[in-house]
Amino acid sequence: MPKESLNFPKADILVIDDTPENLNLLSAMLTEQGYKVRSVTKGSTGLRGANAVPPDLILLDVNMPEMNGYEVCQHLKANDRTREIPVIFISALGDVLDKVKAFAVGGVDYITKPFQLEEVLARIENHLTIWKLQQQLQAQNERLQQEIHERTKAEEKFAKVFRSSPNPIAIATVSEARFIDVNPSFLKMSGYCLEEVIGDTAAELNLGKNTVAIAQTIQLLPETGSLYNLEFEFSTKSGEFKTILISLELLDLAGVPCALLIANDITERKRLENEFISLVSHELRTPLTSTMGALDLLGSGQLGTLNQQGQKVLSIATTNTERLIRLVNDILDLERMKSGKIFTRKAKCNAADLLITATEAMQAMADKLQVGLIINPVSVELWADSDRLLQTLTNLLSNAIKFSEPGDSVWISAILSESKGVESEENQPSSSNHLLITIQDEGRGIPEDKLQIIFERFQQVDASDSRNKGGTGLGLAICRDIIQQHDGKIWVQSILGKGSTFYVLLPLPASQ
Ligand code: ADP
Repeated sequence: MPKESLNFPKADILVIDDTPENLNLLSAMLTEQGYKVRSVTKGSTGLRGANAVPPDLILLDVNMPEMNGYEVCQHLKANDRTREIPVIFISALGDVLDKVKAFAVGGVDYITKPFQLEEVLARIENHLTIWKLQQQLQAQNERLQQEIHERTKAEEKFAKVFRSSPNPIAIATVSEARFIDVNPSFLKMSGYCLEEVIGDTAAELNLGKNTVAIAQTIQLLPETGSLYNLEFEFSTKSGEFKTILISLELLDLAGVPCALLIANDITERKRLENEFISLVSHELRTPLTSTMGALDLLGSGQLGTLNQQGQKVLSIATTNTERLIRLVNDILDLERMKSGKIFTRKAKCNAADLLITATEAMQAMADKLQVGLIINPVSVELWADSDRLLQTLTNLLSNAIKFSEPGDSVWISAILSESKGVESEENQPSSSNHLLITIQDEGRGIPEDKLQIIFERFQQVDASDSRNKGGTGLGLAICRDIIQQHDGKIWVQSILGKGSTFYVLLPLPASQ
């Protein structure tokens, strides 16, 4: 017995023939070759069997009493369940086989008796192969139709969202950052009409203060992947400035890499936020300072000695008041920096001195949390506001220490950056006359989608950070403003669970 018949039959064949000798002969021959054979002597029985369990192929005698082969075939082709099954007609040598009719009623081939084993097998296999291929093709076709249908539906949905979205949306090419489509909300926000925008870049339209950075961000999108909520000063056609947040997604339009830019106009929100923040901060500062004075007085014992419980309550009140004062001061600092009311007082200072002073200031905190502080300073002259830079370095060190575990280390190092090797956030190699300060920790790390946003006001990776770690979520926003006022750059790289490295890149005075 051939191997296949031991496992799976090659195919299921139904033989319909009123001559038992023929049936037996065909059945034995095909079973021997590994086919599963069902044989019946009547057309009506064959039709019932085929309908109940459709076979892969039917061998059908032409001349049968009651219902001849042509009629059986017509019934098979009229039934959805059996229509596709290939039918091969069998005719005896003396029979008149109407070949035209055989094909007309849906037969795919015919065999004449007496049977030639090889010929019968070859024809059966041939038609089984054709049938299988047809099935595959049909399945593939159905899959493709389904895909086309789904794609069309998705495109329709996208087009609907694009047109009717209240958010301004633009699509630009990655290669040149040229607009290829914008939605009505974008036109409303910008004041331009569609024809003025299509084909132009943000820089050509003068859409804001930092159009070059936007173009670079679009061009780097294939490397960086999606970006969220980048703040951008947008300039309308009439010259009005708006603050918008842009999120970027990579899009493939007929093989052309494009950027989908979704904007969120936060001008009004910012204005209200600023107004509210400055009002609250100013209103809070005076009473908080006097509360702190009162708490100091209580702690000094001049108004009587507190018992242990009283000391504990006083200590909680002092910690919380200090935190509030820090928060208010940070907010006012930021507000003043944003509105240009704080001028940096730049003077000659030494980078090594700054690093050493910052490390000394943070040593007590590091000791308390059992974190090692390792310093690699470089002696180089800076033209900077040393108080403000110190504020930046201590804030970065404080974050590195507080997000580390006991036994971890924090490194603060500085190097003179070479023209190659140092890559800033925007992957622009910096020129050689820069100082690169790195603060590296082996703490909990920062998730990739938070690497940019933590430099925004009140942004913390974990909402419980301010409670558990005592921060305000303003430190990095202040650092970024200070560094920008020194024409420098600040950014972070991090691996979750492994640690973070904050980079501060500062220009050196021209003579160095
Ligand atoms: P905070 O006062 O909360 O520390 P920052 O603006 O300095 O405010 O930092 C914002 C947030 O960024 C932190 O709350 C924390 O979630 C995250 N972060 C900053 N530095 C680190 C660091 N070295 N390791 C892990 N997370 C950090």
